[in-house]
Amino acid sequence: MPTTPLLLEQLRELTQNMWWCWHPEVWQIFETIDVELWRQTNQNPIAFLDTIDRDKLAHRVREGALASRIQAATRRMRSYVESSGPPANMIAGPLHQAPVAYFCAEFGLHESLPIYSGGLGILAGDHMKAASDLAIPMVGIGIFYAEGYFQQGIDSDGLQREYYGRTKVDQLPITKVLDADGEPLEIELHLAGRIIKLHVWKARVGRSALFLLDCDIPANPADDRQLTTQLYGGDQRTRIRQEVLLGVGGVMLLDKLGIRPGAFHLNEGHSAFATLELCARLMEEEKVSFQEARTRISKKTVFTTHTPVPAGHDRFKPEMIDDALGELRERLGLSLRDFHGLGRIHVDDPGELYCMTVLAMKMSDYRNGVSHLHGRVSRHMWNGLWPHRRESEVPIDHITNGVHVSSFLAPEMKALYDRYLGADWMGHMEEPEAWAGLADVDPGELWETHQILKARLLNFVDRRVGSQDAPRGTGDGQIPPGSGLDQEVLTLGFARRFATYKRADLIMQDMERFRELVNDEDRPIQIIYAGKAHPADRFGKELIRKIVKLTTDPAFNGRVVFLADYDMNIGRHLVQGVDVWLNNPRRPEEACGTSGQKVVLNGVLNCSILDGWWAEGYDGLNGFAIGTGREYAVPEEQDAVDARDLFDVLENQVLPLYYDTDEDGLPRAWVDRMKWGILSLGWRYNAQRMVLDYLHGAYLPAVGATMASR
Ligand SMILES: *Cc1c(COP(=O)(O)O)cnc(C)c1O
Repeated sequence: MPTTPLLLEQLRELTQNMWWCWHPEVWQIFETIDVELWRQTNQNPIAFLDTIDRDKLAHRVREGALASRIQAATRRMRSYVESSGPPANMIAGPLHQAPVAYFCAEFGLHESLPIYSGGLGILAGDHMKAASDLAIPMVGIGIFYAEGYFQQGIDSDGLQREYYGRTKVDQLPITKVLDADGEPLEIELHLAGRIIKLHVWKARVGRSALFLLDCDIPANPADDRQLTTQLYGGDQRTRIRQEVLLGVGGVMLLDKLGIRPGAFHLNEGHSAFATLELCARLMEEEKVSFQEARTRISKKTVFTTHTPVPAGHDRFKPEMIDDALGELRERLGLSLRDFHGLGRIHVDDPGELYCMTVLAMKMSDYRNGVSHLHGRVSRHMWNGLWPHRRESEVPIDHITNGVHVSSFLAPEMKALYDRYLGADWMGHMEEPEAWAGLADVDPGELWETHQILKARLLNFVDRRVGSQDAPRGTGDGQIPPGSGLDQEVLTLGFARRFATYKRADLIMQDMERFRELVNDEDRPIQIIYAGKAHPADRFGKELIRKIVKLTTDPAFNGRVVFLADYDMNIGRHLVQGVDVWLNNPRRPEEACGTSGQKVVLNGVLNCSILDGWWAEGYDGLNGFAIGTGREYAVPEEQDAVDARDLFDVLENQVLPLYYDTDEDGLPRAWVDRMKWGILSLGWRYNAQRMVLDYLHGAYLPAVGATMASR
């Protein structure tokens, strides 16, 4: 029996690498020790250990099963980090001397490290995790936001309220990077005519490191310290300065650490200034022209664009560019015209704003959208950058996003998979054959597992609705939200950012028909919503208000619920526990969408517009499609047609299939579809497949090119 101090030490060790968050056998240790406290601390193991009663902890870890679980987890983590990993590690050969530097404005690894807002960040987190699992050398570069994104409450009128609170840094799995003298490593960044000092945090993500830049240090004037406080907060000026910090600061950091990346992956245009700093450095080191530097840097640069929505592309007035980056322009020796031209489609049009996506497109040799359809839409959208090419020849590829399986697959489902697929299916999950064994899964067993997850979700909803900051339905003629939720009722989930194009209110286009669906005697539905609207998005907030109103309206019988403060924890519960995942964006504005991929893993069926990944994933039998993939010139017309289609699909396909049960109460045809959903989609829409696509399509060519030019 190990000593108590040793067990406590091992527990602490486990909290120091985010690896724990995608290994249920690790976080379940904390859950087992004290489930209430685990929830109270928002599943944060460091906060958990800080808060828990010493004696209680010392007593609990000595209990037989826990002691051996702690030791086993520690052994596994050590061997994961120290081993050279799976065969992909060999393929990644040249990257061992020159890793991939992965830049992103947000990273969503776990709810306890709140430096993400939505899909982009969680994708970045998934990318880092999968690269680690594959042992592909990668460092992440991001920003440490002391307040993260806002927390959402809902006032008595159903209006979103935004709260900001500083995260307790000493309860995060990050440590300050130190220099040779043991002092915090300091970076001096030229920004807007002065020098800003940056410190750096390091988070360990399995085998990889994620570095987070932070300017909230005493050495900076108060104003400048605010710069990294909030993710997507502040005005245009804050935004451009954060982007200089991320791009230019990130390159300076890599240099300080002595890391010479073989490929620079700009995940979204936010970090595109990195390419300019790289050019300036190459010009200074090797006395080459800007043109030559640009050619060489772009060979190493991979750019992923993430949205066809115009507002999703940062654009700045040229004066702001000059203000923020004057010093860099001088180092590059560029005229104002040429400097501004890098961010313009029409170089000589003084009226055109400076666009970060254009800069990134011009400074990278490999560019991609995030689904087959989004690739096509992007080639159309950016044809102006290659005016002499036909649209189909525009050099923008696509790599469809995928999700990190261990992060979103429910532990109970994983146990089921393990039994049918053998121990190492995760090692080659990008191959359809690895999943084939699921064809033999017993339908009753799959259904039962799903019911367990659904019950857990309804339980979770009950707890949250009872404690969250939102209307309680205590007014005249109101009912408590969630009071009508029922395990037997078909449960829809709808959770995502409340961006306009995602049309959270599509089902409310026909309130009467919606009400009838909810209240149907034989085949009712219930629906759980979650999502934040950007603080400046009044329309998005209005949608939230509309939904929240229904949650206490007796006409909807307590079967419409809104969960406040959507985060990865709510997300996990939803994607694991609903029956149907509803997604109805205005095609083709959903570049990919990833939450629908998370539900697939858990046997949940998608009911979605044929947009983003679903336009390529849907085969007629692995879920449900709303509409036919047509697009309309008039948005209102599209909304009306799609709303009708949504009701038709629900009434004619989803409900009959779900409620058609055999004598054992088993909806056989439904379970068949669940199975086919996992079999036909699981192997393809996971992050391991995605990262391997980047490795072969983008990273290795970038490194090869680098080697050749050396
Ligand atoms: C997966 C996820 C998203 C992204 O969902 P989309 O379907 O791409 O909009 C956003 N937020 C959270 C918390 C998620 O887990």
